[in-house]
This record gives sequence, C-alpha cells and structure tokens, in this order.
Amino acid sequence: MARKIGSRYTAHQILGRGSAGTVWLGEGPEGPVAIKLLREDLASDQELVGRFVQERTALLGLEHPHVVSVRDLVVDGNDLALVMDLVRGTDLRTRLTRERRLAPEAAVAIVADVAEGLAAAHAAGVVHRDVKPENVLLDMQGPIGPGGSHRALLTDFGVAKLIDTPRRTRATKIIGTPDYLAPEIVEGLPPRASVDIYALATVLYELLAGFTPFGGGHPGAVLRRHVTETVVPLPGIPDELWQLIVQCLAKAPASRLRASELAARLREQLPVLVGMPPLDVDEPETEPEEEPSREAPPEERVPRTPVRRGAVPLVPGAKPADSNRDTHTSMRVPAPDELAGGAHGTARAPRASGAPRPGSARHRAATRRRRLVLGVGALVLVAAAGVGTWAATSGDDAAPAPTPGNSAPAAP
Ligand code: ADP
Ligand code: MG
Repeated sequence: MARKIGSRYTAHQILGRGSAGTVWLGEGPEGPVAIKLLREDLASDQELVGRFVQERTALLGLEHPHVVSVRDLVVDGNDLALVMDLVRGTDLRTRLTRERRLAPEAAVAIVADVAEGLAAAHAAGVVHRDVKPENVLLDMQGPIGPGGSHRALLTDFGVAKLIDTPRRTRATKIIGTPDYLAPEIVEGLPPRASVDIYALATVLYELLAGFTPFGGGHPGAVLRRHVTETVVPLPGIPDELWQLIVQCLAKAPASRLRASELAARLREQLPVLVGMPPLDVDEPETEPEEEPSREAPPEERVPRTPVRRGAVPLVPGAKPADSNRDTHTSMRVPAPDELAGGAHGTARAPRASGAPRPGSARHRAATRRRRLVLGVGALVLVAAAGVGTWAATSGDDAAPAPTPGNSAPAAP
C-alpha cells in the first residue's frame, strides 16, 4: 500500500518503527530513500513543526560517510516527514540482540565509525543527544570492515533536540534512554558535544559486555547511578581499551575525549584486537524481587547481595573524593565495595563467566563452605590461643599472666 508523501515521494513499506514515528522504504526523484513519518501527535504540534522547519538547514546540512543524511523535510497536511538516505541493513540494536556481545574488534570498528560521524556533526555545531544502538545503522550492502563489521552510520541527528523542547521536557521529564544519559544532563546542565561521547562510550561498553554500565531497574535509579557511581571493569578487556572507556565515561564533561580523538584512538587499538573472541562476561544479577524461599532452611537464607537496586545515599555537604567531579560537589562518592554492589551500592559488577551468581544455589553452597572454613579456622585460632596462653602461664620463666585483653576468647 503505497502512500504519497508530499508531491515528490512515495512510501512503500515499513522498514521499522521508532519512538518518533515510522520509517518507510520510499521512492523519490533520485531513487530509493528512507522516509521517517513523524508520529501524528508530533506532526500536529504546530510549534514542533515550526522548529523542524527552522532547523531545516542544520538537519539537511550534514553529509558524512558515517552519518545518515537528511535529504528533505516534507510538511504536507498532517504529515511531517524526514527524507533520509536509505541504509540497507539493520540497526546495531538488532545485531547486538542477536549476538549478545560483539568481538572487541568489531565493536571498536563500529564505535570508531560512529565517533567519526559525531566528529563531523560536532564540528558543524550539532549535538546528537540520542546516541544509542537503535540509532546506529549498519550498511550491509557495503564492504566488510575490521572484525566482520559493516560500515556504521549514525541516524536521527538533531531529532531528539527538536522533539525534546523545554515545554515537553517539563511535561514528561527527561526524554531519552536513561542508560545513555550523561550525568550533566541528569543534573540539568545544557547538553554539549561531550554528552554524545558519554553515550557512545556507554554503547561501546554495551557491545563488549552485553549490558550497559549503569542500566537496570527503575529509571530513577539508572539516572542516579550516572551521577554517583563509577564503572566497574570488565573482566578480560585490554587495558588501553578500558582506559578509553573510563575516560569517556568521566563524570566531568571536560575530561572526556573529543569525537575525532576517540575515533583515532579506537582505530589505533584495532590491530591488537584482531581475532579476539567476545569477552567472557556474564550479565550481572538482577536484584531478586522475591523474599528468600520459604522452604529453605534458616541457614540457607543467606542475605543476597543487592546488585542493581538500592540507594546510594547522596549526602549534602559531603566531601567529593574525585576532583574531576566538578559538578558533583554535594554528592557522596561511594566506596569501592559499594560500587561493586556492596551493602549500599547499586553498580552492576560484571562477574567473570562461571562465577556463581549471588543468591544461586552454587553461591549459597560456596558461602556455606566459606563459613565452614572460617568456623574451623576460628576454632583452630581459639585452640592455638588457648595453647599459647597455657604455655605462657605454665612456663618456667615468670611470664606475666595474660591480661584480659590478650586472653583467649571463650569457645563458642
Ligand atoms: P526513532 O528514532 O523514531 O526511534 P529510528 O530512526 O531509530 O526511529 O528508526 C526506527 C527503525 O527504522 C530503525 O531501527 C531502522 O530499522 C529503520 N530505519 C531508520 N532509518 C533508516 C534508514 N535511513 N534506512 C533504513 N532503515 C532505517
Ligand atoms: Mg532513532
């Protein structure tokens, strides 16, 4: 069922659906195109339409091998459509869902492509604001790159900015996918180019690990983690690559790399990543929702470590432990054990594959074994202390009697 879009385009079939509308495979005067037809409620918003028209030049101006160019903007009756380059392939989310984790070489090549696209946009004064796997398209008809990766193109430039107006933001709070939001956005600062770098580093982490560094659970908890928590290292990741991720996930926007530098540094890593298999990382445990099983005997009811949820207290006036965090001076920075999912932290600590999940039968068995070993160890210590005390008090030389503080504790 073909559908006319303006006087020059025809939409033929749906390629995909997104949050802002539906993307159609279409035909224009110069051949096949992709047409994003904005949602009706967005297209009928006169103010929004006005902004799209105003930003027409910024939207249409970006041309780069790693950017999906917007070729035309059509306002026709109730339709508001963006006519884009057609990318024959899939989006990065689909590939990631299929493969769960990418080999480091492919992940780095894809992210380097996107970083190059971002560099061109940032040079033109455009911030993307919604970098995530859904907005990265893979051109599967072009040549194959490092690690079997296809050329990656970033799409939806400026769309988030246009749709996410102050009026709308107030009505619906923060728009965007919480997993990729830079901490300064959470704190209400204006988004600059560095928010895209943060989001892209999150994507790189996700491609390698299979999950985002601060995602999971309630969106509010995700937002808080961006501000208060630091990223937990991925087992087996090459150190230089890890350092790049850490730098681009810095809480302070100014500490992050620029897009062009990130692209160059990522490409430098490619040779050492050749042939490396995907990282052997298991997704961190979702904090159990349920109470410990009623059938379990009391000694089985080991308190489980909360991994994803729980509050990281924000203590007003607490001293910042990280001088980088220039915008976060009133936040308490969690201690490393909290970041690893300790009593108060909610950071998602990746487990090396094969390690028992907290709360699992294997984990409980291991905990029981550890307790047993500790118990036996304590008994041995008590016995040794007793023997020592006995030796000290019964020796020939006039050793002083043990003071109460030195005495062996009563056996349990
Ligand atoms: P939204 O940003 O509104 O959520 P997207 O731009 O991500 O929507 O598009 C939704 C889907 O449509 C994408 O995942 C992709 O499958 C498809 N799509 C989007 N743009 C193109 C394009 N230029 N060429 C081919 N397919 C596209
Ligand atoms: Mg999109």
